[in-house]
Amino acid sequence: MTSDRKKALSIATRSLAPHKPHHAQWLVTRKCNYRCAGCNVWKEQDERELTAEEIKKGLTILKNLGIVEIVLSGGNPLLREDIGDIINHASKLFITTVYDNGSMAAKKIDALRKVDFVAISIDSLNETKNDQIKAVPGAWKNATQAVETLHKEGVNVAVTPTISQKNLYEIVDITKHYTNKGIPVWYCLYSYDTSVDSNQLFRIGKENNDFVITDKQAMVNLCNELIEMKKKNKKILMTTKLLETLRSLYEENKRTWKCQALNNFLVVDHLGRIAGCHSHNFAGSIFDLPEKWNSKEFKALRKTYHECTQCNYLCYVFYSLHGSPCGHLSLAKDQWKNARFLFK
Ligand code: SF4
Ligand code: SF4
Repeated sequence: MTSDRKKALSIATRSLAPHKPHHAQWLVTRKCNYRCAGCNVWKEQDERELTAEEIKKGLTILKNLGIVEIVLSGGNPLLREDIGDIINHASKLFITTVYDNGSMAAKKIDALRKVDFVAISIDSLNETKNDQIKAVPGAWKNATQAVETLHKEGVNVAVTPTISQKNLYEIVDITKHYTNKGIPVWYCLYSYDTSVDSNQLFRIGKENNDFVITDKQAMVNLCNELIEMKKKNKKILMTTKLLETLRSLYEENKRTWKCQALNNFLVVDHLGRIAGCHSHNFAGSIFDLPEKWNSKEFKALRKTYHECTQCNYLCYVFYSLHGSPCGHLSLAKDQWKNARFLFK
C-alpha cells in the first residue's frame, strides 16, 4: 500500500472513532517577523521552544489519541530552521496545515511539498491596505508572490483572509479572485481576547476598534452570499454549517453551538503545554496527555469549557460544530476533497 493510501485509511478510521478529539493546533514557535495591528503574538515573543525531536514525539502522542487534523502555526512556524523535519513527520500522520504570513513559504517550498494546505494570510487585494494591516511594507507583494509560486509548483496553497470591518466589503472579491485561479480560500474572523483568566495560556487577538465588525447586516449578507457561492464554488473551504452559524451570531446575536474545547480540539504551545484553547491556563504537558485525557480533572474542565461563551474565534467554532463522527463525515465531504493526499 502506498504511504498516501495508508494515511488516508488511518485518517478515515480515526475520524469515525467516537469520543476522540479531532483537531489540534500546535504553535511551534512564538517568533514572528510581522507586527499585525490586530495581533498580540508578536508582542510576547519567547526564544524558548521544544526541539524537533520533542515535537515529533508529541505529534505521535496526538495521533495515538485520535487527532486527525493538525495546524502548525506560531508566530511563524516557517521561521524554525528544523521545520522541514517537523512537517515531514506531521504530514505522515495528519491532514496537515501550515500557516505563513506570506514571508517564508516560497523560501521553504521544498519542506512544504508534503503538507495538505499551506495557509497564507492576505487581507486585501489592495497592497497599501494589506500592508497597513500587517504593519510590514512589502507584506502584500511577498504573500501574493508566494501564493503564485506555490500554486505553480503544485503545492496546495490556500489564502486565508481575516474578516474584519477593515475588509468586510471586499471578502467576496478576494474569494472570487483566488478561487477563479483554482486557489482555495478559508477565513479567519477578527476576534480579540476578553479572557478574565490572568493565567491564560497566551494572547492572540488584540483589541482594535478599527477591526471590530460594526456593520452586522453586511456580515449577514456576506454569509448569505458565500453560502450561495459555495453551491457552485468548491474552493470555498468554509462549511455551510459554519456560515449559517456565523449568520445567526450576527443576525440574532445567537450562539447556536456549544464549545468543544478539550473535547474535539486542543491547543499546544511552543513549550508543549496543552489547553482546550489559548484563553485558559494550561492543563498539563503534551507528554502527560495519554494519562490525563480521561482523568477527572479533564472531565471537569470540559464541562466548564462547554458552558463558556467567551470567544468567537472561528477555528474553535468550526471544530465545535464538526465534533462527532457525523460532523467529521460532513467535513470529509465538504473540505477534505481539497486535501493533497485525497486529491492524489
Ligand atoms: S497575525 Fe500572525 S503574522 Fe501577524 S503578527 Fe500575529 S502571528 Fe505574526
Ligand atoms: S468559548 Fe471555548 S474556545 Fe472560546 S474561550 Fe471559551 S472555552 Fe475557549
